[in-house]
Amino acid sequence: SSIFAAVEMAPRDPILGLNEAFNADARETKVNLGVGVYYDDNGKIPLLNAVKAAEKARLESMPPRGYQPIEGPSAYAQAVQALLFGKDSALLANGQVITAEALGGTGALKIGADFLKRLNPDATVYISDPSWENHRALFEFAGFKVENYPYYDAATRGVDFAAMKACLGGLPAGSIVVLHACCHNPTGADLTDAQWQEVVGLCRDGGLVPFLDMAYQGFADGIEPDAVAVRHFAASGLQFFVSSSFSKSFSLYGERIGALSIVTAAREESARVLSQLKRVIRTNYSNPPIHGAAVVAAVLSSPELRQMWEDELAGMRDRIRAMRTGLVEALKAEGVSQDFSFVIKQRGMFSYTGLTAEQVERLRTEFGIYAVSTGRICLAALNSRNLAYVARAIAKVVA
Ligand code: PMP
Repeated sequence: SSIFAAVEMAPRDPILGLNEAFNADARETKVNLGVGVYYDDNGKIPLLNAVKAAEKARLESMPPRGYQPIEGPSAYAQAVQALLFGKDSALLANGQVITAEALGGTGALKIGADFLKRLNPDATVYISDPSWENHRALFEFAGFKVENYPYYDAATRGVDFAAMKACLGGLPAGSIVVLHACCHNPTGADLTDAQWQEVVGLCRDGGLVPFLDMAYQGFADGIEPDAVAVRHFAASGLQFFVSSSFSKSFSLYGERIGALSIVTAAREESARVLSQLKRVIRTNYSNPPIHGAAVVAAVLSSPELRQMWEDELAGMRDRIRAMRTGLVEALKAEGVSQDFSFVIKQRGMFSYTGLTAEQVERLRTEFGIYAVSTGRICLAALNSRNLAYVARAIAKVVA
């Protein structure tokens, strides 16, 4: 018999399954609110002008395609570090931050998880309830036990900070805590500045290992304000991990371009940590691809391209905000009595709408509007053509 005879069919990825169903739907008015991708007002994934300019220059110079350093190019690492920590960060001056290019935010989480597994194999990983659906599986596949800490409060549509604090305060030392640095996926509910300071204190007092996941820098309030969590941890004297991604902020999803940064206690420690992280990378994929890192580094190191990128990023952020306000107003105009104003306060690409699984099902069957059964919708999939249609449909299913 086959060596694969005992292999069971894995469960379908819920969001990719949604995409398949959407693609198969023949209705012209269909709308896919399930994805985690930014679309422009024409419903297209943008290719940013800053990216185009950097790519054009690269193509013209026809650079050779040798192997990269295991941790990626240093120009890329420096660009990532400046975004996360601020270019005048004392940690950077002290050599306390190492950064490795990674295959998107997911790849950054995975090399961080593999490194942590060798460092502290018995630690438990704590993720928010709920969290990005890949967090649990990713850390479980790296060999960790994964638990939830309380996070979302459906009653207030915000964070149940008291419960979160109580949980974090009781964790055994060495526990790994995965924190969404901004634009929490899937809820859109973030911690305040003061709450971040409390979380830093809990991590310090409890000897916890913070792992900040920053997939949406620039999508809430801007590049600098969205780094508030990283900056509080940076000021704390703690060691911590940051996975970051340019999938969204540069609209470079398929280039798989992200980074893992690790803050150490001292320059000498950085050298040892980097040497071990390089072994993790070397045994996984040897060294990272060239193109995405080259484009990002070129944009961030050129004053003109950087300005162009910041303007385009602001454009994406503002359009999502406009869709949030637009949806709330359109629901009101449809006569919906339920208060949806919380949608305006949620941050990033997503909203936890509070729609039930049955209501989401009705949106799909009756209107061809696809959303995750938890009620999460992607605001960046709304545009001036489908907004009114979506609002009317939501009004019908909540009536
Ligand atoms: N973390 C979170 C919270 C995310 O939402 C995502 C992407 N949806 C990622 C990580 C992974 O990003 P990437 O596509 O760059 O791997």
